[in-house]
Amino acid sequence: HAKHLGGSCFQFYSAELPARNTDRLRLENELRKAIAEGQLQIHYQPKLHLASGTIGSAEALVRWQHPTRGMLLPGEFITIAEETGLILTLGEQVLRLACVQASQWLHKGPMAVRVAVNMSVQQLRQPQLATQVEDVLRTTGLPASLLELELTESMLLEHSDTVEANIAALQKLGVELSVDDFGTGYSSLAYLKRFPIHSLKIDRTFINELDEQPRDAAIVRAIIAMAHSMNLRVVAEGVEQQSQLSFLRNQGCDEVQGFLISKPVSASAFTRLLESRLYSSATEAP
Ligand code: C2E
Ligand code: MG
Ligand code: MG
Ligand code: MG
Repeated sequence: HAKHLGGSCFQFYSAELPARNTDRLRLENELRKAIAEGQLQIHYQPKLHLASGTIGSAEALVRWQHPTRGMLLPGEFITIAEETGLILTLGEQVLRLACVQASQWLHKGPMAVRVAVNMSVQQLRQPQLATQVEDVLRTTGLPASLLELELTESMLLEHSDTVEANIAALQKLGVELSVDDFGTGYSSLAYLKRFPIHSLKIDRTFINELDEQPRDAAIVRAIIAMAHSMNLRVVAEGVEQQSQLSFLRNQGCDEVQGFLISKPVSASAFTRLLESRLYSSATEAP
């Protein structure tokens, strides 16, 4: 009987857990509603092509216009979306919205811009992913070459037949693939020779302290050299300072992305950015 005194522990936790669970449950239900009712929006952040001064692509970053809490960033809801499986419908919606927008830029102007969409590992594990992407491209009228998918290193190390088949099928469609947050995942580079990757995005943790940390500079230099010798494009993310931009330019980095160039902005603000001719697009209309 005395053993059941351990039940007091249960008492302690049960006082805490329900509150947290109801918070999570509320967030989950709100997110489900948000996806169904179109509260999700996409902001776009340019990747600037340094050699030409043109916009190489626009990264689509999801935002949630919450009815009472204002604009929420992915950090506040992507984890719950992953945990509840809602990431699949969220991801498909983001893909569709981004392709609709890129198709408008292509067909209505001001110009063709490639759009880069972040993928969740759960999307890559769906056997029908390539069919879904193909359908989105067909219904939005966007050429596959104007869609780029950002994957992370861990996704490329899954060793799953479905993931490998998806990557091969996406490559066959003509979609571009890039490795996001490069350098932070795993030390394995083996996937670079197995998969049809087009570009590497150096993680912003290597860019942050480029001026103060000689080792960061060495890593960035090495990534650029390796990528170029493999005919991959290199993008640096999180560029905030002119000194970082100069270093990257000197090292031959192809594209830069970060607050120094532009924060992520609404579709209409991005359209104005394109119209301003401050940056013209790097992508010829196909
Ligand atoms: P990410 O793909 O690595 O995107 C870059 C993040 O860094 C974005 O944050 C962007 O706003 C931020 N950023 C860009 N330039 C700078 C800079 O100069 N300095 C600093 N400090 N930050 C900068 P955001 O929009 O909050 O997105 C965070 C992450 O959420 C993304 O990281 C991506 O992993 C994920 N995410 C965003 N949208 C989606 C989506 O539609 N689907 C999925 N699965 N994940 C998404
Ligand atoms: Mg990304
Ligand atoms: Mg990134
Ligand atoms: Mg990142």
